[in-house]
Formats: sequence, C-alpha cells, structure tokens
Amino acid sequence: NRQILFVKRPEGLPDDRTFQMTEAPVPVPEQGEVLVRTVYLSVDPYMRGRMNDTKSYVPPFPLNEVIVGGVVGQVEDSKHPDFHPGDLVTGMMGWQDYSVVKGEELRRVDPSRVPPSTALGVLGMPGLTAYFGLLDIGTPKKGETVVVSGAAGAVGTVVGQIAKLKGCRVVGIAGSEEKVRFLKSELGFDAVINYKNQDVKQALKEACPDGVDIYFDNVGGEISDHVIARINDFARIVICGQIALYNLEKPDLAPRIEPLLLMKRVKMQGFIVSDYQNRYQEGLTHLSEWVAEGKIKYRENIVEGLENTPEAFLGLFRGENLGKQLVKVSEI
Ligand code: NDP
Repeated sequence: NRQILFVKRPEGLPDDRTFQMTEAPVPVPEQGEVLVRTVYLSVDPYMRGRMNDTKSYVPPFPLNEVIVGGVVGQVEDSKHPDFHPGDLVTGMMGWQDYSVVKGEELRRVDPSRVPPSTALGVLGMPGLTAYFGLLDIGTPKKGETVVVSGAAGAVGTVVGQIAKLKGCRVVGIAGSEEKVRFLKSELGFDAVINYKNQDVKQALKEACPDGVDIYFDNVGGEISDHVIARINDFARIVICGQIALYNLEKPDLAPRIEPLLLMKRVKMQGFIVSDYQNRYQEGLTHLSEWVAEGKIKYRENIVEGLENTPEAFLGLFRGENLGKQLVKVSEI
C-alpha cells in the first residue's frame, strides 16, 4: 500500500520536502469497516490551510501521517452490511492505494448516468460550494451582473453557469487564454478577463458597465480590490476562497473597504460548504439534473499516478487545471 505522508509544514509554497512517499501493508477491515481501493483522489486548495499549524475550521494535518482528502474508490472487502466488493463509493480517505473506512462515512456513487469522478467535482464538494454560496448568499436575480474570480476552476465554472441559468450577466476572471476561450465559448460567460495579461481595473470597467451586483470571490488579493471598487448598492460579496493569499509568508495589506461597503450597503459573507450539510441532497439533486440536461457542463484535469499527487496539488497554485483537478490512481 503506497502512501503519501505529510512530513514538514511548509513556509510559503509547499515543495518536495513537504511530502514523503512510503509503503505499508494493506489494512484489514474490522466489523463495520470497508476496505476501499483508491480510484480518483481530489486535490483541493483548502488542503494548503490544513498544512499550517493554526486554528481553523478543520484541524491541521498531523505530521508524519497520510494526507486525508476526498476519494472515489472501489470496495475490495467489506465488513459492513451496506457495502459489497465492486461497489463505488466516495468519502474522506487517504493519499494512498487502499484505505479502511467506517461504512457510515461512505456515500455510494452511481456510475450509471455520470462518470464516478464527478462525485469529487461538479457533483461533489466543489459543486455544492458553488450552489450554496451563489444561491444562498449571492441570491442572484435576473439581469444582475455577477463577477466570479478563479472562474475556470472546479467551483468557479459551476458558479458562472448557475448564474447564467438564473439570467445574470456573468463575468469571469481567470489566468490563461485557454481558460478565457473555454469560459466564453463552451460555458457561455458574457465576458472573461485574463488577469495575467490584462489591466484588470480597465477590463472590469468595460465588462461591467452597470457595476457589480454579486462578487463570488475564490481568490482574494488585488483582483478582489479591483472588483470591489466597482461594487453596486445592495451588492453581495460571497467570500468562498482566498487562494492568492494561501502561500503568503507575511500578511497582505489592502485598501480599507469598509467605508465603501457602508456607503453602498453591501453584504459581505464568508461561508464553509459544510455549513450546508443538511441540505446537500437538495444541492446534489439540482446539480445532477442540470448536468443530465446539459445545462451545466464540467471539465476535469486528470493527472495519472499516486506518486504525482503532490505535483497535481501544487499545480493548483500555478493554475495548471481547467476545471476540477483529480489524480487517477487505479482503474475501475
Ligand atoms: P480551482 O479548481 O479553482 O483551482 C485553483 C485555481 O485558482 C487555479 O486553477 C488558478 O487558476 C487559481 N489561482 C491560483 N493561484 C492564484 C492566484 N495567486 N491568484 C489568482 N488565482 C489563482 O480550485 P477550487 O475550485 O477547488 O477552489 C476555488 C476556491 O474556493 C479556493 O480558494 C478554495 O479554497 C475555495 N473553496 C472554498 C470552499 C468553502 O467551503 N468556502 C469549498 C471549496 C473551495 P488561474 O489560472 O485562473 O490562476
């Protein structure tokens, strides 16, 4: 059983010294447990936060233990009545070939309508993040202008498409020409700004002639300063992620926005998707319908091989992924 351990807390960007590959015996399930072979692993920006030894909404990763994240896998052996060898399941498991998990912590994945990997993306945590963050906090109305940063990622692609379904004008911000093209031509975004080669301030002025009613923020930093400068009266700012800040070694200084928020009567709210746990079924039902009807499209960026998981994770901070970043570890 190959495993990837978390061996050193990074300062700034994680690197080779952060992770270590090792071998251990394949674990044996006890009563109520299931042995799962990893098929797909999810690498997610929030994992960077768990590498710091600071208090947050999830505890830090312990040193010298296997890194835990979202997995889609296949049951190899089961001592739980609800699961049988061959079943596809998803849950929080390790960056390793095989995990033993309590049956109660697994959710069954139905591969008949959509590929099972979607349980980690559009029909999983990132899709639900987009759904609840936009609809519950953003409360989009027809004709409003929605700006989403990190627009070409797992969450951003879904945010933009739901906003289009709600009749909004959708402006994305992303980091490559390929992403700009994809969001415009495949997902129907009204305008997309490449923050790496455009003047974001000027481009926002052109893309949002009527200002910004909803800002769904996945990145923070300077991009957000420019968007918030164009915010409208009674706008909503959804603070979903701040990836531009996750690897900073010193705190970032920003303009004081409170006077603007006051004057414009803006509501700004952070959220964690797990706040909505008791409504996940509602979210998954809607997202599944939209995917089945072709109203929501999704992309996955799949890296092959467990040993390439750390690089796939680091790729998130270099913007290497279009859509959801996954690692394929074994075949179904
Ligand atoms: P993505 O698939 O969007 O991958 C991350 C993307 O962020 C990259 O592809 C890159 O795209 C962009 N990025 C990386 N570094 C920077 C930077 N310095 N400045 C601007 N953009 C950058 O990840 P997810 O969709 O999984 O997550 C998106 C955000 O949502 C993250 O901030 C994450 O932490 C947050 N999140 C929050 C949740 C919650 O419950 N609140 C739940 C899930 C995610 P590009 O080429 O455009 O730079």
